[in-house]
Amino acid sequence: MHETALMYDVLRTLEASAKENNIEEITELKLVIGSLSSILPDALRFAFDAFKGSPPLAQDAVLKIEERKPQALCNSCGSCFTIENPWEFSCARCGGVDIRIQSGEELYIEYYKGRERSVDYKEN
Ligand SMILES: [Zn+2]
Repeated sequence: MHETALMYDVLRTLEASAKENNIEEITELKLVIGSLSSILPDALRFAFDAFKGSPPLAQDAVLKIEERKPQALCNSCGSCFTIENPWEFSCARCGGVDIRIQSGEELYIEYYKGRERSVDYKEN
């Protein structure tokens, strides 16, 4: 389950970003995963539930996951298209098979929402 390690990294990234932006609590998190990445959304959710309470930064956060289909560029006609069917790696316009996959293996945080630390917070 490499999803566990991925989610751990996601939460560490969020933690650092939240600290930088004075965010006290994360309320919503959206992840995008490419459908070629072999990442299982259910496994990510499972890992999120396991990790979100430590530190308690995201323990009540809503996790949204969007799977994106891969994008490819055709070397024959130059068109950029979405691969709808993972078994048909050919150009949607000219039918050429000389294509380059542009995306589909990614995992990234599209956005997160949070509550800022209250303004009476004192630095010492
Ligand atoms: Zn083409």
